[in-house]
Amino acid sequence: MKSFVTLLAFTSACLAAAVPGQSSANLFDKRAPTPDGCRALNTDQGWPSPAEWEAAMPGVLPRKIAKGGPARADYRYTVRSSEDVEKAVQFAAKHNIRLTMINTGHDYHGRNDAPSGLQIDTSQLRGVSVLSKFEPTKEGAPRVIGGKTVSKPRLVDGQQAAVTFGVGIVGSEVNRAIKDTGLFVVAGASPTVAIAAGWGQTAGHSIVSAHYGLGVDQFLEFKVVTADGKLKIANKVSNPDLFWALRGGGGVSWGVVTEVTYKAHPSPKVAWLSFTIDSATASLESFLGRKNGSEGLEDAVAYMTAEFPELVRQGAGGFFLPTGKGYFGACFSLMENATESHIRGTWEPILDKMATFPGMNKAQIGVRTFPNYAEFFTAVWPAIGQWTGGAGVGDGQLEMGKVNPMDRYGNLFDFGLKKDESTRPIYEYLSGLNQNTLHKRAEYANAPVPRQLSPQAGQPFTPYTQNGDYNMPMAGGKFPMDSRLLGEKHLTGMPNQPRDIKHTFATHFIVELISGGKAWQPDDDVSVLPAWRNTIAQAYTPYAPPQLSADILRKIAPETGAYANEAYFGAADWKTAFWGDNYPRLSQVKSKWDPEMLFWATPGVNADTMEVREGRVCKGRVPGRSTNRAGGVAPLTDNPNAIDAVANLLGIVGVGVPYTGQNLTRV
Ligand SMILES: Cc1cc2nc3c(=O)[nH]c(=O)nc-3n(C[C@H](O)[C@H](O)[C@H](O)COP(=O)(O)OP(=O)(O)OC[C@H]3O[C@@H](n4cnc5c(N)ncnc54)[C@H](O)[C@@H]3O)c2cc1C
Repeated sequence: MKSFVTLLAFTSACLAAAVPGQSSANLFDKRAPTPDGCRALNTDQGWPSPAEWEAAMPGVLPRKIAKGGPARADYRYTVRSSEDVEKAVQFAAKHNIRLTMINTGHDYHGRNDAPSGLQIDTSQLRGVSVLSKFEPTKEGAPRVIGGKTVSKPRLVDGQQAAVTFGVGIVGSEVNRAIKDTGLFVVAGASPTVAIAAGWGQTAGHSIVSAHYGLGVDQFLEFKVVTADGKLKIANKVSNPDLFWALRGGGGVSWGVVTEVTYKAHPSPKVAWLSFTIDSATASLESFLGRKNGSEGLEDAVAYMTAEFPELVRQGAGGFFLPTGKGYFGACFSLMENATESHIRGTWEPILDKMATFPGMNKAQIGVRTFPNYAEFFTAVWPAIGQWTGGAGVGDGQLEMGKVNPMDRYGNLFDFGLKKDESTRPIYEYLSGLNQNTLHKRAEYANAPVPRQLSPQAGQPFTPYTQNGDYNMPMAGGKFPMDSRLLGEKHLTGMPNQPRDIKHTFATHFIVELISGGKAWQPDDDVSVLPAWRNTIAQAYTPYAPPQLSADILRKIAPETGAYANEAYFGAADWKTAFWGDNYPRLSQVKSKWDPEMLFWATPGVNADTMEVREGRVCKGRVPGRSTNRAGGVAPLTDNPNAIDAVANLLGIVGVGVPYTGQNLTRV
């Protein structure tokens, strides 16, 4: 009997070996083969057995997918070293398996998960080391994954300090880890967005970008496992084409990044001013265009918008959004301008003038100043600081059922603002974590409502809760939004725009002053959308067509484009809109490093060489269709999960707009 089994195993192995890419295929496997040019599904002949998965990637987790719940990859592998990543990529390539990767789960396009295959979780690739200077070499900077080795190097004036850190470490963690060195790094506004994956590989805007540049401008080196399953060093002297592509070409497309070396700067002083300015005549009805009453507010906002270019030239920045009956702003100044008198002197005359428009009340203002970036960040985001190891609110407040956005985000807006029902929409909208969304997600996954957002306070941030569901409301699905980058003339021209444009801009868009200055004069050529180099503001709406789009802004700024991470996934002319003139070269680099499109993401470079057919990702019917067809949109993803954003929309305008996710009409 034993020899029969041995013979059977031997025969199977021989037969399997005869079918390239399908190690388990054999005569006894009656399942249908994978269609030509397509990725395998778990129902196909040759799909690896659970034992094969486990042997290749010890500890790999089969995903438990509730009946009727969201579609997820078949397996998730939490990698802890670059060798783990190599094994995972080699396994996926060998077995022709759909491969995705997740780092924090913030992606708005659902590119970090798929309904089949293997999801690599890179959140535990950690470790931080500070360098007093960096010289690119073929061998790369010393590795840091697996240890926290922050040192306090002797900094030399005029010498660029740097930090090497694992891709899984989120922005606030890096800054917290290095704060005793007096240095800081450019990171996203949200403390839980990571630097080195989707954020930094696509553009990476920050409240400090006008002073230090975008995220893409900070990278000195990447360590990345490419489609051949091998770790590569990408810097100025080693694989420079890959290095260029990784700085703007978008997450996923180039390989699995394991760690990076990144510029560090002396930490600046920060001043923060928040304001709300209400209109006595505006209402939700007027915001929705059903009644008059918000014209004064719209003109006041158009006036302020026209001032933005000059403010940015003076080093100011901020975030601005409609509240349902007025407008809210969070404004900041850095370095020598980070004083209460300077920031008040900058904004008060503008807010006073806004109060002179019909129906407008005087603004409420609050100001705080901070001696360095780390203190500013910890003060502004205390609750999330708790997630990532910093001082924060008590554990109890993070428990579901007790989370109150007013408490969690209190410090962000508390600087003189009243905290009552009138400002609740702002808190709820920005929290993105309101009860409805989380409860819906939990029901969807057929799992108990998570008690805590993170396994334990003080533990590293992970994309998962302890029951295995996602931490971030938008993780693993598509989130509706649309956006446009705006330059000087688009902003200064706002007061002269027709009423419908001023109305929509003032009542439905969030505006971020996150570029200018150093972001216009980078040290190096990178592959980011060139329009960033003339951008002053990004305006985005948490809706997607057909409910609402950024079309009014496309009309006034047809030549700019959009930040791929925060754009409508069905945007027209997507290659030009997201990468501009850099797209053709990005396409060539992608073809060289990943000819088989192992790392497929949409929108993403060369995404349109593949398409989804009956739930699987396949080579496109028109081979090499990598043209920028007029009006073309990126192929639809195979990830069918859509985020129910109605709760957030309720927060901003008080009226939910139906969002069906899958049935979106494409522009
Ligand atoms: C609350 C919130 C706040 C935000 N704030 C900002 C902001 O201030 N500035 C800004 O510019 N953007 C911001 N964004 C957008 C953000 O840049 C994108 O969502 C970005 O994709 C997040 O990257 P991530 O690695 O943290 O998330 P993930 O969802 O984990 O990954 C993003 C993408 O990178 C890929 N990826 C994951 N791991 C790796 C890896 N190891 N190697 C290569 N690719 C990988 C994923 O497959 C996915 O496509 C924000 C988003 C949210 C939800």
